Amino acid sequence: MMAQYLALKEQAADCLLFYRMGDFFELFFDDAKIAAQVLDIALTSRGEHGGAPIPMCGVPVHSAEGYLARLIKAGCRVAIAEQVETPEEARKRGGSKALVARDIVRFVTAGTLTEEALLEPRRANVLAAVCDVRGVIGLAACDISTGRMELEECSPDQMGAALARLGASEVVASDSWELAPVDCVARPNRSFSSDEGETRLKALHGVSTLDGFGQFTRAMLAAAGGLITYLDHVGRGALPLLLPPVAREAGTHMAMDEATRASLEILVSSTGTRRGSLVEAIDRCVTGAGARLLAEDLSAPLTDARAINRRLELVSWLHDDPLLRGDIRGVLRALPDVGRALGRVVAGRGSPRDLGQLRDGLSEARRLHDMLRARRDLPEPMVALLPTLSGHGALTDLYARALVPAPPTERSQGGYIAEGYDAGLDELRRVSGNARRAIAALEAKYRDETGIAALKIRHNGVLGYFIEVPAKHGDRLMHPDSGFTHRQTMAGAVRFNALALHEEASRIAESGGHALAAEEAHFEDLVGHAVRAKEAIAATAGAIARIDVAAGQAERAAEGNWALPRVVDEPCLQITGGRHPVVEAALAAKGERFVANDCALGQQDRLWLVGGPNMGGKSTFLRQNALIVLLAQAGGFVPAQAATVGLVDRLFSRVGAADNLARGRSTFMVEMVETAAILSQATDRSFVILDEVGRGTSTYDGLALAWAVAEAVHSINQCRCLFATHYHELARLAETCDALSLHHVRAREWKGDLVLLHELAEGPADKSYGLAVARLAGVPAPVIKRAKSVLEKLEKGRAATGGLAAGLDDLPLFAAAIEAAEEKVDALRERLNGLDIDALSPREALDMLYQLKAQANG
Ligand code: ADP
Repeated sequence: MMAQYLALKEQAADCLLFYRMGDFFELFFDDAKIAAQVLDIALTSRGEHGGAPIPMCGVPVHSAEGYLARLIKAGCRVAIAEQVETPEEARKRGGSKALVARDIVRFVTAGTLTEEALLEPRRANVLAAVCDVRGVIGLAACDISTGRMELEECSPDQMGAALARLGASEVVASDSWELAPVDCVARPNRSFSSDEGETRLKALHGVSTLDGFGQFTRAMLAAAGGLITYLDHVGRGALPLLLPPVAREAGTHMAMDEATRASLEILVSSTGTRRGSLVEAIDRCVTGAGARLLAEDLSAPLTDARAINRRLELVSWLHDDPLLRGDIRGVLRALPDVGRALGRVVAGRGSPRDLGQLRDGLSEARRLHDMLRARRDLPEPMVALLPTLSGHGALTDLYARALVPAPPTERSQGGYIAEGYDAGLDELRRVSGNARRAIAALEAKYRDETGIAALKIRHNGVLGYFIEVPAKHGDRLMHPDSGFTHRQTMAGAVRFNALALHEEASRIAESGGHALAAEEAHFEDLVGHAVRAKEAIAATAGAIARIDVAAGQAERAAEGNWALPRVVDEPCLQITGGRHPVVEAALAAKGERFVANDCALGQQDRLWLVGGPNMGGKSTFLRQNALIVLLAQAGGFVPAQAATVGLVDRLFSRVGAADNLARGRSTFMVEMVETAAILSQATDRSFVILDEVGRGTSTYDGLALAWAVAEAVHSINQCRCLFATHYHELARLAETCDALSLHHVRAREWKGDLVLLHELAEGPADKSYGLAVARLAGVPAPVIKRAKSVLEKLEKGRAATGGLAAGLDDLPLFAAAIEAAEEKVDALRERLNGLDIDALSPREALDMLYQLKAQANG
């Protein structure tokens, strides 16, 4: 057996091998140690291998899903080795000692799950493949639980942002690619070829050209090749549901890098969970599919005003009609997850219950269709969705006739095909039903005949049907003429068989077996119908999700009194009475009120410097405006009284290093790497929020960097920007930067106490209130007193020397300074350009290098 195990383990490579033995999956060696630890189950041992006992643990097959879920969550991958023949077959093949043949039937990995128990209903589960085709990055992503597949390409520097947007739970890449993302699954390089991708896609969808689906580049197809061959590998040749691929065009979505997503806490908060995230504060969807689509919308806001307005039109319509909204949400609430049921059915892991879900979901979609069709005021986007909601009449009729009202998840017991669907099956059931009744009658008859009131007819897996009497009556039935044959003597009971019972039992077994086989055949047939209609069913599921998202957004807007944003194509941001949905909810839970604030950025006033005390609400203000942009471009209402949002191509959010201590790396370094990305990528269409940039280093360094970054954002990038800082000195930037204005969050000292008003006002902050904040935070009075006297001394010194920014009076303008720097570089470049390298001896080349270096230094 160990030889068989080790051979399978070889194929399972980096997976834990679940080795089926009877009713258990067993794990051995290191696999057992890992699983025992992750699952907190007993580690035992068995036999010997190489002179040492073999560590072992196991999980029951019937509850394996729960254990699998925990292993996958802990980052493990699992290979399932099943018995692929029965013990009888094995004996027939190789004699009484023959080992049952086993084979790996499937790999279970984070990105390839379809089981309901292993998936989160409100989160998509994405598998991605990435590759590099001569400097172009190809990305293929799919959610096999619903079949959605998407291809795109980007430049290498955008790969991180693209992967961050996808939020894949598993990424595969070529094993020979040095710059492959960390933690990806390495796959043979040859599978990442555009030919492979094209061939696979064509075969998958039975087409001779992919043109009907869109235009795909070589990089996209190569990634698709890597993705599909991987799915083929983990499914051992059985491919899951994959819908025709959609090409995602560059620039159709607002770009956000990973740091921005993390800092805006879009799908997960800083705690790593959904709690406290934007999506949690927004999500009012009543279906899992709706919640997944909303998360997708928020991850990839649009940049096309027409597409945004289409979404807004739908939300607005549902917002203005609460009764209709309530009716629609009522229907949606009862809907099963059609997309995921279809995913399981097509992947060959479907159950009768999944077919029942398709039947119920598609019938309800039809009901929604009829309800909406009757309306005269349908907005255009709804008119477009409507036809997708119906058109499954034949399938739902078939399923309604074929299936019982609430089909089971298990097929092994049968009983899911409805009566009246198949006369042959009904007859088999009648025979076995009669036999069951006959057995019940036999029990009464035997009791009568023997006079033993405690006589029972029972059933178990080993003996089948048998008669059982308490031990004290056993002898009476042992008599040869009793009509009973002895089968087993237990501690307190004796078991018998009887001819009539045997006959009826055989009848049940035989007709039951035939009935099961008949149900199986029907099941296959019913699955076939769904598989053939998979694209239309997926489209219905998609339409349901879109309607749920729109209704949920409308519900949220109505609940919070949110505004329909106006989306325009010029670089402005006009928010009246803006609020932060997450902070507002947190305050409301404590019975506190959120103070709404305005924002008015435009071409002439595009950079706001926001000062004021710590805890005054600077970060909140910055983020609420970024979130309003994001929500508007995702096609939803926004938490404000009114909002005009000029389309944003890229959104950046950065937080000074001190807030990010948990990250481990040199936090200041991280801050600077992220800031560098903004300076190189932000365009005049971008929106940037910078929160206390420069805080992660010494005062002078920090001020100098904050100063230079603000200047560059203002004069070079020319994007809209909110810049929070506690450096008063930055206020002087207003003297030289004409599109920069000063603002602060207001605070008052009242009877010696600090009152934070959380209200934004124009002009520079008057002072920093650092000591007052410290007192608010509970720093003891003597320490505050001491700090006060130190501060007085410092301030005196500042008055005498002109303060931290005293030397800045003769600072040249930013643009002029850059020119000067570039001049020096250019002299070097000219000299380099004039060099004839081939004419230099190695010695001369070395001398020249020394000279160039000296020139560069100065
Ligand atoms: P800062 O960035 O100035 O240090 P924050 O934005 O982190 O301040 O805000 C600190 C706290 O103040 C928040 O956690 C919130 O409880 C409260 N707060 C912020 N803005 C508002 C507001 N507009 N209305 C009410 N409370 C607010």
